[in-house]
Amino acid sequence: MRPLLPLVLLFLCSCDDKPAAAPASPAPPPAAELVNTPGFSGHNAYLHCAGICRLGPRYSGSPAYEQQLQYLEKHLHAAGWETARDSFHAPNGVKMCNLRAFRSATPAPLLLSCHIDTKINIAPDFESADDGASGAAVLLELARVLPDAQVELIFLDGEEAFARHMSETDGLYGSRHDVARRGSTLPRWQINLDMVGGRNKTIAIPSLDTSDFMYDQYCAAIRATGFSEEKWTVWPGAYMDDHLPYLEAGVDSLNLIAHFSGSNWWHTTRDNMSRICPRSLHESGLLTRQLIHQLLNAASAGAQ
Ligand SMILES: [Zn+2]
Repeated sequence: MRPLLPLVLLFLCSCDDKPAAAPASPAPPPAAELVNTPGFSGHNAYLHCAGICRLGPRYSGSPAYEQQLQYLEKHLHAAGWETARDSFHAPNGVKMCNLRAFRSATPAPLLLSCHIDTKINIAPDFESADDGASGAAVLLELARVLPDAQVELIFLDGEEAFARHMSETDGLYGSRHDVARRGSTLPRWQINLDMVGGRNKTIAIPSLDTSDFMYDQYCAAIRATGFSEEKWTVWPGAYMDDHLPYLEAGVDSLNLIAHFSGSNWWHTTRDNMSRICPRSLHESGLLTRQLIHQLLNAASAGAQ
């Protein structure tokens, strides 16, 4: 049984807040490998999250950010996606780069997004596991199992503000740039994922930023997956996040984001892999996959 322990632990880890007891005689675990299951794998997403976090802080323009782009490109290409880098500069001159992935040159009606930059000036060992890596990990694993060409993925730079707090003019650089670049060729829908891998998370979509149609889709996806309505909830307000520039441009957007205000880990070194859970990533992947299914079915029904 012992060689199987790392895999088994990944699948069975509890999502409560108690850390697992340390083994009596720890040994170096064998390298866990990605699995080729037909459906979304929280195990794979967890490995991607860990692989990204091992790069260290991924500040815009940093060598680690470049390594992260290469990590994403490698796995996207392996899953049969084409990629394109979209480089630009923030107003203060910092080099930024969004990474797009697509299966067809025809614009897709549905855009899945996450941000992959990390907040600057936290600490050299800042992993930013949930606030950044978790969304990328879920998108990367979804890329492996999404069969259709009607979805585009975008891994956004510059979500984080350079100042301590985000403002109207500081933050969301990548999403604002992407909306401007697309002009009138915008997707019909967007789903943004942010902080979707924490153990025992509560997703709280912003009610003021969510249309009635998208709210209905969210509720239908919760019913279809059988997930708890106490864990997939609505925040009575708005968020500044990467859904906002698309929403303001007329895209019907849904921001899947965990409740984080008042937390003791956000933008600290406590946002590390110890608070990421494969089951949490798995549920985020399944719910997003269900939303994709519903939205694309709505698109094909509307085209008839
Ligand atoms: Zn952040």
